[in-house]
Amino acid sequence: MHNETLRPETTPNGLSSFSPLIDSAKLAHPPGTLVDRYGRRITYVRLSITDRCDFRCTYCMAEEMTFLPRHEVMSLEECLQVATVFVSLGVNKLRITGGEPLVRKNAMWLIERLGALPGLDNLVMTSNGSQLDRFAPALKAAGVRRLNISLDTLNADRFKAITRIGDLGKVFNGIAAAQAAGFRRTKLNAVMMRGINDNEFGDLVQFALDNELDLSFIEEMPLGEIHGRQNTYISSEEAREHLARRFELIPSTESSGGPARYWRIPGTETRIGFISPHSHNFCDTCNRVRITAKGELYPCLGQNDALHLLPVLRDHPGQDAPLREAIIASMGIKPFGHDFTQQMEAPQVVRFMSMTGG
Ligand code: SAM
Ligand code: SF4
Repeated sequence: MHNETLRPETTPNGLSSFSPLIDSAKLAHPPGTLVDRYGRRITYVRLSITDRCDFRCTYCMAEEMTFLPRHEVMSLEECLQVATVFVSLGVNKLRITGGEPLVRKNAMWLIERLGALPGLDNLVMTSNGSQLDRFAPALKAAGVRRLNISLDTLNADRFKAITRIGDLGKVFNGIAAAQAAGFRRTKLNAVMMRGINDNEFGDLVQFALDNELDLSFIEEMPLGEIHGRQNTYISSEEAREHLARRFELIPSTESSGGPARYWRIPGTETRIGFISPHSHNFCDTCNRVRITAKGELYPCLGQNDALHLLPVLRDHPGQDAPLREAIIASMGIKPFGHDFTQQMEAPQVVRFMSMTGG
């Protein structure tokens, strides 16, 4: 893995300028915003606030995971500082993720402050749902706009097998609590796995329809060393053909600003998304970077280059300028895209999704 420490070159109008690949594209963006070498403006940060989780999903983690020691994890104050600097650089959407974000002690302290950050228009969270029956009202009150909840199956035994330790009942309660707290258009995320949940895709869609939820199907990504991915991979195309036998699916031009492509079912509000990193590369419009719980800034989910913010934070406590410079510098290592292939057996990226933040 690279340990890049880059110095930014900043133009008089505050734009980062590493490679004059598309200068004219950069100039079209507001001054002082984050623009990468390919002219893509970064407005979306995914912030992982813990690598820990109360589940051990087979596609996401090894059975025996070693989690980070506490001193290697950003404090909640450091998370807030990082988010604040990103927002000052034009980021307007932030997703809190993990690991399971709601197992982080005092997570609400951070979330309340993020919810009050001027300029952060869209604070959202991805959760496994297990803690939502406790936290949904507080998340709503703090200003979290929308929730994504992972749900790969509606069958309790299968859920236990996939998550190794999870309780499906708690997730159902969490979904109900989110609805009761006033969250609308909550999105379910289902990782597609041949021979594991592929006979349930239609039932998951029906569940989404019955509960006025959206649903995205995700192609499994080769993150972290896990055996057998090759056997379970299913393309979005195949899943969609399968679903089209039961539901009328109308392609939609809508976008949530992410990599999902959406279909609608006539007469309903439900959107069915497909996130297809293998079969449809979505890198050319990428607007995001990811921050791990360790403070590593990954400009691309599918590559191993990172810029380490924790030393910058700890060498300059309370100072925003060095952090700002480092974040601008990261634009110089944002690659054009990932190159996941369908060779799923060898991990193409050495870290697990729970490390990078999904
Ligand atoms: N714990 C929370 C959850 O499960 O929603 C948030 C973090 S989790 C890493 C975020 C998302 O990543 C989940 O929807 C999960 O299904 C997905 N994910 C994890 N590993 C994956 C993989 N190898 N390929 C595709 N999606 C994956
Ligand atoms: Fe935990 Fe989410 Fe990974 Fe499952 S997918 S192990 S719930 S972080």
